[in-house]
Amino acid sequence: TRTAATPQLQRASTRCGTRTGTGKQFKVGKTFCVVGAGFSGAVIARHLASRGHKVVVVDERSHLAGNCHTERDNQTGVMVHRYGPHIFHTANERVWSYVQQFGTFRPYVNRVKAIARGQVFSLPINLLTINALFKTTFGPAQARAFIASKADHTITQPRTFREQALSMVGPELYETFFEGYTRKQWGCDPDTLPASILKRLPLRFNYDDNYFNHPYQGMPQDGYTAIVSNILAEFSNTIDIRLGATFEDMPETFDHVFYTGPLDRYFGFKLGRLEYRTLDFERFVSPEPDYQGTAVMNYCDADVPYTRIAEHKHFAPWEQAQFEQTVCFREYSRAAQKADIPYYPIRLSGEQRLLRAYEDMARTSKGVSFLGRLGTYRYLDMDVTIHEALEACDQIDVALASHGAQ
Ligand code: FAD
Ligand code: UDP
Repeated sequence: TRTAATPQLQRASTRCGTRTGTGKQFKVGKTFCVVGAGFSGAVIARHLASRGHKVVVVDERSHLAGNCHTERDNQTGVMVHRYGPHIFHTANERVWSYVQQFGTFRPYVNRVKAIARGQVFSLPINLLTINALFKTTFGPAQARAFIASKADHTITQPRTFREQALSMVGPELYETFFEGYTRKQWGCDPDTLPASILKRLPLRFNYDDNYFNHPYQGMPQDGYTAIVSNILAEFSNTIDIRLGATFEDMPETFDHVFYTGPLDRYFGFKLGRLEYRTLDFERFVSPEPDYQGTAVMNYCDADVPYTRIAEHKHFAPWEQAQFEQTVCFREYSRAAQKADIPYYPIRLSGEQRLLRAYEDMARTSKGVSFLGRLGTYRYLDMDVTIHEALEACDQIDVALASHGAQ
């Protein structure tokens, strides 16, 4: 669960309120620090500035947008997602209308292909995948009945990734698409992973190959960094953005800190490290204008060391014709070491215990609220990140109003 912003903010505010003496002084003109210039940090910083507060946004990277950062590839001119492919998708009206204010989202549907056992398939598993794997020509009802006959009905309450897969699709689909890929992605036996990881993926008995079920899906025309920059732009007078600087090295003190960096890092890894998977991206440029004919090709076999190849020009179909070359990235997953970028929280039972201990520390720490995917050690899609940041903004208003009334 998220480390709630409200109680900590209120606690910290009470402290500051006492120090400054009056509610009125307290209400406007406080100085906040937002650690991290990703979506979480940008949404919070904008809100605080819009309420008349001074905000310092600090990020140790040289750019805005955190892991969603996009930039033009120097050699090819293609817009690349530096920390891996990001497709915006949501069912949340508030989030969708919020992001629309800050840039144009072009319609984009994520359609993933996968190479397994010498064949190309469509993902997520749909009627085309089933018919191609089993060399059948089933219609929806036949396919549903066929997969039901393959599924392991002895597993009534799947707890692990493997159990979830076997109870849902049976051994052939599990072994072809999930087992090898998941071992590469997570570096462990799928029987040690939670079922929830697989629940993210749809299973369809029609030819709908949209990777996501959400009604809104799109790609920002000018990239994600432009969106984040626009979130902050209106209040550039009161938001002091410091890139290439770490929070730990900042000399000032603040009335309150919104921390979107790693939770364990805030506490100096005092209790140990929360484990992450990191990614290595192997860049290559193909002289052909089109390398693989699609944006994302998964490689499901265990003997191929990478999990997928992303060809970024296909994320921007409206402009891809203008590039003569194409830039692609092979993606390798491994356990994160100290200096690596934390990508995927692992959250196995050992980490869960450590997480609880850090969450307890977070709850009792004054003057700081934790949010975002690193601050709460959860896998969060962009829309959930933005939604939670907007909810934190609502809580900030409640906390500040209660001080104004004091
Ligand atoms: P971040 O973007 O990680 O920002 C945190 C920032 O804090 C970083 O820039 C970091 O440098 C900075 N920081 C941390 N500690 C400090 C410190 N002490 N001092 C200074 N700076 C600090 N979501 C989707 O919706 N669709 C997708 O297709 C999708 N694809 C993904 C693919 C991959 C490979 C991964 C890993 C994630 C994907 N996501 C996707 C999730 C998306 O990346 C997150 O939702 C989003 O990045 C969360 O934003 P954030 O602001 O919480 O964190
Ligand atoms: N997965 C898999 N084979 C695939 C795609 C996904 O086994 O071809 C598994 C893998 O364990 C992954 C999970 O399903 O972590 C969720 O897939 P998703 O595409 O959501 O992964 P992410 O975007 O998080 O990398």
